[in-house]
Amino acid sequence: MSEGKFKVSALKFRPQTFADVVSQDFVTTTLKNAIINKKIAHSYLFSGPRGVGKTTIARVFAKAINCKNAKDGEPCNECENCLEITKGVHPDVFELDAASNRGIDDVRSIQDAAKYFPIKADYKFFIVDEVHMLTIQAFNALLKILEEPPEYLIFILATTNPERIPPTIVSRCQRFGLHRLKITEIMEQLKFVAKEQNVTIDNESLFLVSKLGDGALRDSLGIFDMAVSFCGENIEFSSLKEFLNLPDNTIYFNTSKFIITSDIKSIISYFNNLEENGLDIITYINGITDHFRNLLIVKSTGSSELLDESDDTKAKFLEEAKNYSVDQIQRILKLLFDSESRFKFSSNQKVLMESLLVELCRVNREIVDISELISGLETLKKKTLK
Ligand SMILES: [Zn+2]
Repeated sequence: MSEGKFKVSALKFRPQTFADVVSQDFVTTTLKNAIINKKIAHSYLFSGPRGVGKTTIARVFAKAINCKNAKDGEPCNECENCLEITKGVHPDVFELDAASNRGIDDVRSIQDAAKYFPIKADYKFFIVDEVHMLTIQAFNALLKILEEPPEYLIFILATTNPERIPPTIVSRCQRFGLHRLKITEIMEQLKFVAKEQNVTIDNESLFLVSKLGDGALRDSLGIFDMAVSFCGENIEFSSLKEFLNLPDNTIYFNTSKFIITSDIKSIISYFNNLEENGLDIITYINGITDHFRNLLIVKSTGSSELLDESDDTKAKFLEEAKNYSVDQIQRILKLLFDSESRFKFSSNQKVLMESLLVELCRVNREIVDISELISGLETLKKKTLK
């Protein structure tokens, strides 16, 4: 899978310069300036969600620092150091995945390697991924190196869980928080990758693949590769949806329409039909919850700007929001959240779902709270007794 045409997109299009890194401008600019001004720290901590570029940036940094022809803090990607780091065979750049090498012996091997001068680069680089997985003893051994690092040593620690790293380690690092990518940023990159691979992809598909990555470019690229293998070089929304086996959002717009018109008969037969066709009940509830969450945002802000949806879908939500009051939406969301734990322990999710749908359809009715009724009667009684 690593050769030629079938190389996965996340690897094939892995950024080789700071300028190519998608988003994370604050991090790349700061690192570039550190190289230009020769103000290099000995240890860096990159934290952030998976798939947003932590190790990619670490490698570009290792190249830029050791490059023979670095220009404005960027690596040339042509000299021996650059080429070997890109291939992962440079003798002075080490990568360790702490998820599988978490013990003290692994850190001791770093300690040993750290004792010697770099072989051909100016700096010896240790990139430790998922560093929060290290054992306490391993952290202590690492701390010893970080306390008195030799001039030539640089550590880049990467993690998805910075809160699990001892403060003694964190305080010795220059910290960078990497953020999830925006859908529009992922879309731009996917457009580029599709063009490079001569793949055509329609806008709805582009949006969906970007969204499914949940802010991680690497995940979106993985979905894109699968889509190419399924749909071929022309990705269309209809076949993509079939491939991903995703419920269409019209399901939720229909459900919502039955709820607001209190059409219990239709909603039950609609649900039964979906269920017979293989719809997963938990997926369905989550979909309904997301739908009303979106409606709440549109209704309470008066705009669809904050939704992570395509323009078509945004317009549908704006229209739909006219049918509901904020109060109704909130009552529906409360019913959905209250039912969550019941579903977890239920042996008959189907019946539970049907009863929930009936409850949701009643949201339209006037709610008469018995206690309010009683207190109203009492007030009336007091008045007549006066
Ligand atoms: Zn170079």
